[in-house]
Amino acid sequence: MTRHTPPRPVEVEEFLPELRGRRRQALRLHPRPGDPGRGQSSVGGPLLWPAGESWPTCAEEHGASLEDAPPEGAAPLVPIVQLFRRDAPDVPFPEGTDLLQVLWCPYDHEPSFGPRPRVLWRGSDEIRDVLDRYPVLDDPPEGTVPVPCVVHPEPVTEYPGWRNMGRDLHTALWDRAARMEEQTGWSYEEHLSEAPGIKVGGYPDWVQDAWRMVCDGCGAEMDPLLTVASWEYDPGSWRSWLPVEERAGVDEHHGPFSFEDAGSAQGAAGLTLGDAGSVYVFECRKCPERPIKYGFDCS
Ligand SMILES: [Zn+2]
Ligand SMILES: [Zn+2]
Repeated sequence: MTRHTPPRPVEVEEFLPELRGRRRQALRLHPRPGDPGRGQSSVGGPLLWPAGESWPTCAEEHGASLEDAPPEGAAPLVPIVQLFRRDAPDVPFPEGTDLLQVLWCPYDHEPSFGPRPRVLWRGSDEIRDVLDRYPVLDDPPEGTVPVPCVVHPEPVTEYPGWRNMGRDLHTALWDRAARMEEQTGWSYEEHLSEAPGIKVGGYPDWVQDAWRMVCDGCGAEMDPLLTVASWEYDPGSWRSWLPVEERAGVDEHHGPFSFEDAGSAQGAAGLTLGDAGSVYVFECRKCPERPIKYGFDCS
């Protein structure tokens, strides 16, 4: 079953024409538990990995916490997202590649005490022999490794939320956005700007203050590559962002938050990153090796 975000309930640009040039496309992945194959796009699924290439590890010293005892040696990274270009035609894959793989080490790392991602771009046709079995991290911190999910990639239109715009624009739009909400019943921040959930591109849906990510190599502002959020929507945002296919039986007043629904679309990938936070991966597309930076925040 595919997943579709409902049509945007308000023509944002009619109320806030300044946003015309800020429109972006994000690719919502809509992961749902399943049995993805190596040759499929997935969240938390098996990766198409060359047999001759060693599995990546993190050699960082991981501090133990009350709950978590990190492994003695290097920790094998865990698969987070695999995305084939055929499922993401608008994502700017580097030339000659058609496969994006993101893994992470789920323990706490600088700069924000969250998982440390690694990003790989590959040409899938260059992978002849495929790695059959890869090392699995024993006993990772709870909620930091997604359950295997198939994905339902869907492009959506986004506008910057309040944290993702400069002070001048914020000031210029604030009163009109409030009037728009009064007139239409839809909140700019929660319903009309950034898509929540796991997505490629678009605007990062920050929980706390926005970080500005600048490339160490060339000094350019980096582009959002991937947001890995714990939840696909929350009690505020579901009205606009819950896929139409998953609305049957949803109580309009309480939303899809009954106990029977726990773990359904909202937290389908089984992630609880801190207090339902997100990991954000940025890349520099001006530097040929596409360096990344990342951050983590939660409430
Ligand atoms: Zn690590
Ligand atoms: Zn750069």
